[in-house]
Amino acid sequence: MIHYWNYPTEIFCGVDALTVLGERCALAGMHRPLLVTDPGMLELPPLRAVREHLKAAGIDHGLFHGLSGNPSLEHACAGAAAFAEGGHDSLIALGGGSAIDAAKGIALLSRDPQGAARFEWTQMLEHYPTLADYPPLNLPPLIVIPTTAGTGSELGREAVLTDTAQGVKKVIGHREMLARGVILDPRLTLGLPPGLTAATGMDALTHHLEALFSPLCHPMSAGIAVEGVRLVRLHLENAMRDGNDLLAREGMLIASASAAVAFQKGLGGVHALAHPLGARYHLHHGLLNAVLLPYVLVANRSAIEGDAARLARYLELEDGSFDGLLAWVLELRARVGIPATLAQLGLNGDDAALVGELALADISSSQTNALPLGAGDYARIYRNAVGGVLK
Ligand SMILES: [Zn+2]
Repeated sequence: MIHYWNYPTEIFCGVDALTVLGERCALAGMHRPLLVTDPGMLELPPLRAVREHLKAAGIDHGLFHGLSGNPSLEHACAGAAAFAEGGHDSLIALGGGSAIDAAKGIALLSRDPQGAARFEWTQMLEHYPTLADYPPLNLPPLIVIPTTAGTGSELGREAVLTDTAQGVKKVIGHREMLARGVILDPRLTLGLPPGLTAATGMDALTHHLEALFSPLCHPMSAGIAVEGVRLVRLHLENAMRDGNDLLAREGMLIASASAAVAFQKGLGGVHALAHPLGARYHLHHGLLNAVLLPYVLVANRSAIEGDAARLARYLELEDGSFDGLLAWVLELRARVGIPATLAQLGLNGDDAALVGELALADISSSQTNALPLGAGDYARIYRNAVGGVLK
């Protein structure tokens, strides 16, 4: 069997890494980038800093902020129209996963208006065995500057965009959607409030764990996943407790970005459930993952006990077993203030049968879960997560 492994891109990481923006744009031939950000960023220091650096480098740019917390295909279409109207040649994404995914969607739609349908994950699996088999699209270069530490979208080649007509989140990907450069500057995440720091950090943890437990063979990504969990353990609580702790902020940025490299190995049942629940109830992706994570770990127990124990020993947990790892996840989740059940987020599980079907249909995640689960299994896990039943 021939495996396809593709490693990411240039990363500039550290305090004041943003200072490389101008020269990186110039080197990438970016003369008139469209800067994509979320509306909440408009009055905040990171946007001012980015615009000042661009101005200092003499780089003319446009601004697009027509998106929301869960960006949709319509947002990406509107962005692609702004890209064409403004005569732009490249993109810069500044913000959390929403702005980054929107920018990647804009890059794709700017070259291929049918791209969302052609490169939606299920289509890809049908038509292109691996990312290496995609037709070249010559997408505009993209530089990504994350201001949250969680989605890892800055190092991913996919965008999760909501199809509002169908009420589902679609994973759309092309290898050229990978950023030309990524700037991880912890100063840009200082303003992130504790609740968002917790939810995004738990998303990063979920990425590492689901990647590690995915049955796909990718030893390099497995190694990154193990170290990524250690980084979350070292830094998440510190980043929450003191939002100005630059070392903790940097640690979480690295954990978050590297998680996207880890999940080239695949995601699993947590994401399979969080995607339809996020689309239906407009709840924060990281928050949903954080609540769901222990319930899926328990459901997968028979398949992941060995790897979980190895990880527990690497983390130097007192109990170096599956139970030790589970106990640590539960403790961390509580310490960062995440609720223990979906009922606490206002869900009652009435739609469990439908959500179970939708989770199974989320093949980008469900097909790489540690165990092959059916719609009924997902419905049961969902109900357990509503009621706090951990078995
Ligand atoms: Zn995620």
